[in-house]
Amino acid sequence: MPRIEVIKESCKGCQLCVPACPHGLVLFTKTEINQMGYYPVEYVDPEDKCTGCMLCAIICPDVAIRVYK
Ligand code: SF4
Ligand code: SF4
Repeated sequence: MPRIEVIKESCKGCQLCVPACPHGLVLFTKTEINQMGYYPVEYVDPEDKCTGCMLCAIICPDVAIRVYK
């Protein structure tokens, strides 16, 4: 099953990846703060909708998203 991982310590919370996901699986929840003082995005996919399309990872300027297929 495809999935992604957000490298939370590399994420600066710019949110470019949020609208990039066609299934709305990357959310800006502001539930935790990383060591750089940013709110990292969260991957929320309870129904396994991720297709591994990589759109979220490609748009990330900080290479903070890993895609597993
Ligand atoms: S790989 Fe595609 S479907 Fe999966 S979270 Fe990223 S943008 Fe969404
Ligand atoms: S595009 Fe990258 S740095 Fe920006 S919020 Fe998404 S994962 Fe974080």
